[in-house]
Amino acid sequence: MQVARPDSLVSQILPAVADYLDSPAKLLLGGTSTAASDGRTMDVFNPATGKKLAEVPWGGAAEIDLAVKAAQAALEGDWSRMRPVERQRVLLNLADLIEANGEELAQLETLNNGKSVMLSRLVEVGNSSNYLRYMAGWSTKIEGSTIDVSIAVPPGAKYQAYTRKEPVGVVGAITPWNFPLNMAIWKLAPALACGNTVVLKPAEETPLTSLRLGELCLEAGLPPGVVNVVSGTGAEAGAALTAHPGVNKLTFTGSTEVGKIIGIQAMRDMKRVTLELGGKAPMVMFDDMDLDQLSEAARIGILFNSGQTCCAGTRIYAQRGIYDRICETMANVVGALSVGSGLDPANAINPMVSAKHQAHVSACIAGGVEEGATPLLDTGAYDGEGYFVRPQIFTDVRQDMRIMQDEVFGPVFTITPFDDPDEAIRMANDTRYGLGASIWTTNLNTMHRYVPQLQAGTVWVNSHNVPDANMPFGGYKQSGIGREHGRAALDAYLETKSVCIAVR
Ligand code: NAD
Repeated sequence: MQVARPDSLVSQILPAVADYLDSPAKLLLGGTSTAASDGRTMDVFNPATGKKLAEVPWGGAAEIDLAVKAAQAALEGDWSRMRPVERQRVLLNLADLIEANGEELAQLETLNNGKSVMLSRLVEVGNSSNYLRYMAGWSTKIEGSTIDVSIAVPPGAKYQAYTRKEPVGVVGAITPWNFPLNMAIWKLAPALACGNTVVLKPAEETPLTSLRLGELCLEAGLPPGVVNVVSGTGAEAGAALTAHPGVNKLTFTGSTEVGKIIGIQAMRDMKRVTLELGGKAPMVMFDDMDLDQLSEAARIGILFNSGQTCCAGTRIYAQRGIYDRICETMANVVGALSVGSGLDPANAINPMVSAKHQAHVSACIAGGVEEGATPLLDTGAYDGEGYFVRPQIFTDVRQDMRIMQDEVFGPVFTITPFDDPDEAIRMANDTRYGLGASIWTTNLNTMHRYVPQLQAGTVWVNSHNVPDANMPFGGYKQSGIGREHGRAALDAYLETKSVCIAVR
């Protein structure tokens, strides 16, 4: 069933979703749906209730090995013989199937991740199907170039050269829990458009939509082994995939800490690697900004997905003339947001993904208070069921405080005044991260002067936190290596082969 109106309440879980939750989901290995070889399963939870939601297979090194071998075999099979236009058609089929099963996928995602069903419908389903369509278009536009060369050996010889773009091979894709289906598609779509095969390892907290995606891949006409899905932990399945000699490229989205482990392993094996990591994005707000945008800045720029977004604008730097007004407006806007289950789209703050993450975010808030920052909202700890955290805003925050430097990944942000714009940009750049940033001004000169000075892979102006399939996305500094989206993403999934022809 296609998605319901994005802002409509889920009053009843669809029978197809209930059935899927009751019958244990399966790994997808070489076109076969299967349990783990030793029968192990792991529980996944509903963050809104803290109760067990379903069981999934607990894949480990053995399943990863089978998946990689299936992906290697598939590289040589029907997939490699498909013409680009046929690859394109299969990806378009998959996009249609995601849409056709949209409401099931959206409900499944909200039950497993906790997020607002409105975001599940718009992003996990809507953006995923459109992202596939965008990347499907690139399948038929992969091209090399002809090159004139000046090779002088042996004397008198003539050469003509050209380049071919070829699939990099088996792609190991490791995804986080914050946008489970969408992150899987951000990796699968360009990898498949370029003719690669994939082993997907979703986050242990949120494997359900990725396992369901595996089934839809087969239904869409992807030959067996082209996409394989192994649920399991990072320490076991993730590490096994990272180290597997049959994997040619790793694409990872997750924390900077794990990204470094994966990057080091990739270098040991000379695997190609793309790392999309953490962030601590600044929003620099100038006196001349349109203050009517503040509510949207809070809801979309900062608290989208309950703040569990890598480029969330968690550090506001406000020019002195509007500082008080910003503090007051943000406190009013954020204080009025309702906290509750994602099945009701009226709730803007939904649970954190896990008990562990709830404890982490709560500890960050307590840590901010201990460091001497001033909490603006008079909210206590959440004492009901589920993994909820009430939002918090801090003022009086020094640059060296952890609440200013470390990623919280929850509904928490800081507001700091500035007098000198150059100093504001210096503070904005003063973390180890560099994923996103934004400038809020109605002055064109201010915009042009400071955009080049911000150290971030994406700089938004008068908006924040809105990516697009055609707009390169990735991190400066410790926010990552490489870019996703747009034409730039394709190069990460292709090898360049120079062909040099002696002309006799
Ligand atoms: P995480 O790093 O803990 O886990 C991400 C994935 O890595 C999971 O699938 C996990 O199982 C796996 N993993 C963990 N240890 C591993 C290991 N040793 N070897 C291989 N795989 C391993 O991150 P998370 O908590 O799931 O996600 C939140 C983080 O992701 C935040 O830091 C956030 O900023 C980042 N993120 C970044 C982007 C981006 O595009 N830059 C997007 C979303 C999330």
